[in-house]
Amino acid sequence: MIKNQWFFERELPNTVQDYKIGWRLKKKVYSGKSKYQKIEILDTFGLGRIFILDGILQLSEKYEFIYHEMISHLPLFYHSNPQRILIIGGGDGGVLREVLKHSLKEIFWAELDQKVVEVSKKYLPFLNLKNSLKQKKVKLFLGDGATFIKKFKDFFDVIIVDSTDPKGSSLSLFQKNFYQNSFLALKKKGIFITQSGNFLDQISEIKTTLKNLKKSFPYVKVHRIFTPDYQGSDFSLILASKNINLEKFDIKKTKKRFKIKGLKYYFPEMHLASGILSKFYQKKLKQ
Ligand code: SAM
Repeated sequence: MIKNQWFFERELPNTVQDYKIGWRLKKKVYSGKSKYQKIEILDTFGLGRIFILDGILQLSEKYEFIYHEMISHLPLFYHSNPQRILIIGGGDGGVLREVLKHSLKEIFWAELDQKVVEVSKKYLPFLNLKNSLKQKKVKLFLGDGATFIKKFKDFFDVIIVDSTDPKGSSLSLFQKNFYQNSFLALKKKGIFITQSGNFLDQISEIKTTLKNLKKSFPYVKVHRIFTPDYQGSDFSLILASKNINLEKFDIKKTKKRFKIKGLKYYFPEMHLASGILSKFYQKKLKQ
């Protein structure tokens, strides 16, 4: 909601919030509706350009690198040699920009909303989507990711789910059968990652996602990142693995492999550190 030159975010789905976040506006850049959601792009003083879906901030020019680097490089460095991956959601292109920094053979991408892709190409140049889509190894499929994944068995090395919060069209990406189909679509050493909400207001969402993933995957692990632009700022990503024990991250081997230049948040020590939860959060997730 925009009021007196301030943009105030809507409450996150399924949460009761006793705080409100507002960003001082410079100008409105774009506002429109697709078949699935309301799409807005605004310029702010505090976060630069921001991208909003149904009133909830998806990314900011100033801090998007934190979320995009971690949701991309954590699974790709947990896996010893990823070749073929699937991105679900991520219509803004931020995850695609990051995964293209690895020498992958094939990148399948299932995004629901063509309008999100078009608007992002035009108004979010810092995510480089226009150029990324020129790469032959990128295959974009428009549609529901939960339906798309049913076509594959033992096919992907890594699956990255960069979805909106669990409501409406993205609810299918938070279901047990979607996690089971993801398990089946992954190869033996396959790794899955999903955004799972913040530790302040969405603890129950994190716990539900953990519980449901453990029904399909033997190894499941929460990583924690600090996202100043997201409500609650203390954000969680959950990884799941078919065979690789995520508690045994080999930092020595990863340091040898880690040749990507110019990353601002992800590096092997941050990989390790982000997987360590305080006793406080460990207890909260068990309650
Ligand atoms: N990083 C953001 C966050 O954590 O809130 C998410 C950003 S990204 C823009 C979310 C994308 O998920 C949107 O482009 C939306 O269209 C897409 N999406 C939502 N439901 C989907 C579904 N069922 N299948 C594929 N993509 C979906």
